[in-house]
Amino acid sequence: MDEGAHFNPAGKEHGAPEDENRHAGDLGNVIVGEDDSLSGPNSIIGRAVVVHADPDDLGKGGHELSKSTGNAGGRLACGIIGLQA
Ligand SMILES: [Zn+2]
Repeated sequence: MDEGAHFNPAGKEHGAPEDENRHAGDLGNVIVGEDDSLSGPNSIIGRAVVVHADPDDLGKGGHELSKSTGNAGGRLACGIIGLQA
């Protein structure tokens, strides 16, 4: 499996999500907690990372879906977490 280089259709430099000069694919860091595991019943292997249409209200939006999905709207794209040898 080869994911290739960062998605960079505009030919810019690598940067942070809030930077003007950044690759279009630079989405910043995902913080991994101590309870995230690569094995056992809580393994993240095989689980999906989903891009939703709307911002996650983090359970505080007061919508009927806030406490279950963050009222984040439709699912636009996803990827599956796997191991690379
Ligand atoms: Zn980049």
